[in-house]
Parts: sequence; C-alpha cells; structure tokens
Amino acid sequence: MAPSNLPVEGSCLCKAVKYRITGEPMGFQYCHCSRCRKFTGAAHAANVFVATDSFTWLTGKDSVGTFRLEADPPFATAFCRNCGSSLPNLSTAHKIWIVPAGLLDSDPGIKPARSIFWDSRAPWYENVGDLPQYAEWPDA
Ligand SMILES: [Zn+2]
Ligand SMILES: [Zn+2]
Repeated sequence: MAPSNLPVEGSCLCKAVKYRITGEPMGFQYCHCSRCRKFTGAAHAANVFVATDSFTWLTGKDSVGTFRLEADPPFATAFCRNCGSSLPNLSTAHKIWIVPAGLLDSDPGIKPARSIFWDSRAPWYENVGDLPQYAEWPDA
C-alpha cells in the first residue's frame, strides 16, 4: 500500500489563509481555458479536486474573496484579499472543492492526469519539459 501523504495543507503567499485536505484527492488536471489563464496569470491552471467533507479552512476564512463571472455564472474564483493568491473555490455546480495545486505546501501524492481546453492554450505555450532547466536562477 502506498504511504498516504494526507493530510496536506495549503497556504497563500501572505500566509493569512491556510487550509487542510484530509481525504484522497479525486482528480488533478491542467486547464488551458482562457478564463483560467486570466485568473492565474499563468499558462494554465493546475487544479486538484477534493470532496466537500475532505476540505477545511484552518485560518483566514474572512480573507477569502470570491468572484463570479457574470457572463458564465458557474465559473467562479476565490482569492486572498490581502495578497491576491488564488484560493480553493467550492464548485456549486459539482459540489466539489477546486484547489489550486500551487498553494499546496507538500506533495498531495497525485499527479496531473490530463490537460483540458487544450485547443484554448496560449499561442506562446511550450511544453515545459522541452525547455532548458536550472535548479534556481540561470547562470549569468
Ligand atoms: Zn494571502
Ligand atoms: Zn479553465
């Protein structure tokens, strides 16, 4: 049996908001849709899906802001009112927590299984594995 990585905790950049995942994540995917790209400012979202009874806010729930896209009401986002970090958002349509994986402070023990909205990917997108890699800053 694989060792459980649970619980896994996550926090925003300013550490005002912290949360805990206590149940096995139900999925992990990258989303390249234009809405996710705008919200994250990144090439794609990296979202872990967590059942409602497996998620708990630990601190800073008062600092969680939400935004609902008027043109497409099911699409909503959550963010830290202090530092602007993306935060987990409860999908009312699917009754599941959508957790931005970049906020996790340890390995959730699951890897992304797919990229969705691939046809909406940014025109400048490059597969990250094809790029030169540096442990930290590039030399000179
Ligand atoms: Zn914050
Ligand atoms: Zn998306």
